[in-house]
Amino acid sequence: MAEREPVIGIDLGTTNSVVATLQGAAPAVIKSRSGSTLTPSIVALTKTGKTLVGEIAKRQAVTNPESTVYSAKRLIGRKFSAKQTQQAVKNLSYRVETGDHDDIRIRLGDKTLSLPEVSAMVLRELKLDAEAFFGKPVRKAVITVPAYFNDGQRQATKDAGRIAGLEVLRILNEPTAAALAYGFGKNVNGKIAVFDLGGGTFDISVLEVGSGVFDVIATGGDTYLGGEDFDGRVIDWLAADFQKEHSIDLKADRMALQRLKQAAEKAKIELSTARETQLNLPFICTPAGGGGALHLQKTLTREKLEELCADLVARTVTICEQVFAEARVKTIDLKEMILVGGMTRMPRVQDAVKEYFRRDPCRGVHPDEVVALGAAVQADALTNEESDVVLLDVTPQSLGVAIAGGYVRTLIQKNTTVPTSFTEVFNTSRDNQTTVKIMVLQGESDLAHKNELLGEFILTGLRQAKRGEVEVDVTFEINSEGIVSVSARDRETGQQQSIQVTASGGLTEDELKRILDEQADLMLEAKVEEEVKTKQTELKALMKEVTELMPQLTEATRGDEFGQDALRKANKALEVARPAAERGDLVKVTESIDTLTRTISLFKGVLQRIGR
Ligand code: ADP
Ligand code: MG
Repeated sequence: MAEREPVIGIDLGTTNSVVATLQGAAPAVIKSRSGSTLTPSIVALTKTGKTLVGEIAKRQAVTNPESTVYSAKRLIGRKFSAKQTQQAVKNLSYRVETGDHDDIRIRLGDKTLSLPEVSAMVLRELKLDAEAFFGKPVRKAVITVPAYFNDGQRQATKDAGRIAGLEVLRILNEPTAAALAYGFGKNVNGKIAVFDLGGGTFDISVLEVGSGVFDVIATGGDTYLGGEDFDGRVIDWLAADFQKEHSIDLKADRMALQRLKQAAEKAKIELSTARETQLNLPFICTPAGGGGALHLQKTLTREKLEELCADLVARTVTICEQVFAEARVKTIDLKEMILVGGMTRMPRVQDAVKEYFRRDPCRGVHPDEVVALGAAVQADALTNEESDVVLLDVTPQSLGVAIAGGYVRTLIQKNTTVPTSFTEVFNTSRDNQTTVKIMVLQGESDLAHKNELLGEFILTGLRQAKRGEVEVDVTFEINSEGIVSVSARDRETGQQQSIQVTASGGLTEDELKRILDEQADLMLEAKVEEEVKTKQTELKALMKEVTELMPQLTEATRGDEFGQDALRKANKALEVARPAAERGDLVKVTESIDTLTRTISLFKGVLQRIGR
C-alpha cells in the first residue's frame, strides 16, 4: 500500500496558532522547531530587513512596535472604512492603510501587505514545523475559523492558506473542531456545548453528537470579543490615570502603547491565579518639556480587573442565551460543556459560565490545543477512506437579497445545515424594467440596510414588460466551508449571471441605505403566492423522503440510543409538517422544510456511519 500523504490541521488563532496531525489512532500537536506547542500569530520585519514569525517576533515587539504585526485575524476579510475596523485599529501599534478596494493593508517597512499575506507567513511557519516533523513536504491542511466568520473572512483565510503553499482541504469552524476532538474515538451520545473565548473572538456552539456524527444545531458569537478587549480595558485604565496625573496620552506613543499592552496582558494572566499584581513600567515616557523620564507603577487587584471587564463577561452570557433560545435547547439537557481558548482560564469567566450552564466544564480537554486537534481529525477524515467521522455544520448567519422597498428576502436561514442551495422566483418591480440588481446580504434584519452587503451583480437584457411579468430565478449555494455563491437567471431567455461572493462588506448602515435608495428602480419583488406553492411541493417531497427513510433507520439502529432519538425527532417533525403542508402558511412551511432537511441530513449521517 502506498504511504499516505501527510495532512495537518491548523488552528490559526488571533493570538496563538497550533498545528496538529493524526498520529496513530489519536490526534496530537506538532511542536514547533523550537519545541513549543503554541506559535504566537505575530510577524515582524526587523530594521535589517529580516522577517520574523512566531515567538521570535513576539520577543522583539516592544523595541520594534511599528513593524510587528499581531492580531491580523481581527482585520482579515474586513473593510478599511468599517466602523469596527476603525475601532480595532486604534489600539494597534503598527500602521494600517486602505487598499484600492477599501481593503486593509499593513505597512511593514517599505512594503504594504494584505492581511492574507500576513496570515500566510504564520501558516508557512507552521507548515515548516510540520515538514520538519514528517521529514517531507506537507501540502494538505484543514484550517479553522471562528464559526461567526462571514463569507469574506473565510475566503480571505483560504487565500492565506493558498499563499502559504497549502491546499486548503476545508475551512472548519473552531467550535466544531473542538467538539470533533472531544468526541473522537469516544462513544459520546447527546448534546454538547462549546464555549470558546480566545484572544480576539468569542464563539458558542451547540452540537448533537452520536455514533461518530457531529451535527451542529446552532452557533453564535462575536468576532470582536476576546482577550484583547480585556487587555484594552486595563490599558485604558492605566492610560487614563497617567493622563490625569501627567497630562500625557501614553496611547499616542507607539512604543509606550506596546509596553502597556504587554504589561496589561501579563497582569490579566497573573490575576487568574493571584489576587493582586504589580504593573511596573519604568521610563515609560520622557516628556518633551524636560523634567526627566516618567515611570508607571500601579497595583491591580482581581476585583478591579473583574469590574473593568464585567460587561465583556456579561456579553458572552447574553450571546449564549440567544443561541440556546434559538436552538430550543435547554442547558440542563447538555451532556457536556467544553471550554476552549486562553481566556476561559480567567476565574470570573469560569464562574459566569458555570452559573449559566449550571455545571462544571469538561475536564481533560486542553483549551489551547483542542481546536487544532479537531482540525487534524477532520483533515484525516477528508483524506482517509476508512475514517468514520461525519460532520454536519451550519451556516452562522441568514442570507438573502435586497428587494423592492428596502427589504430583504431571506433565501437561506441561519443555522441551516451546509452544504445547501435554494432557488426562489422573483419578479420585476417596475414596468419595462430590463435590468435587475442582485444585492446579496448577510444578517438577521428584515431591513436591507441593517445587514451586511456581501456582494452584488447585475442581470441585464430582460424583456420589456409590465411590472411583475418577468420572472427571475435567484439561487444561493453554500458549500461545506460556508462559502457562498449566488446566481440569477432570466426564466424566459435562460440568460444567467453569477458570482462567488467575495468580501465587499464593511459599508456603514448609512452608506448601504443610500446605495439601496439610489438603486431602488433595479430591485426585484418577492413572488409570495407562487413561492408558497413551490414550498408546499418541496415540503411534501421532503415528508415523503423522511417517511421512506424511517424503516431503514429503524432497522439499522435497533437498540442504538442515538438512532432512537433521531427517529423520535423525525416523528415529531412530521407531525408539525403535515398540517403546515396542507394549510400553506409560508412561515410554518419554511420552518418545516428546515427541520425535515436537517432530519434527512441526520439520517443520512447515521446510515453512512453504519455503512448502509
Ligand atoms: P486565539 O485562539 O484567539 O489565538 P487563545 O485561545 O490562544 O486565543 O487565547 C489567547 C488569550 O487568552 C489571550 O488574550 C491571553 O491573554 C489569554 N490568556 C491566556 N492564558 C490566560 C490565563 N491564564 N488567564 C487569563 N487569560 C489568559
Ligand atoms: Mg482560538
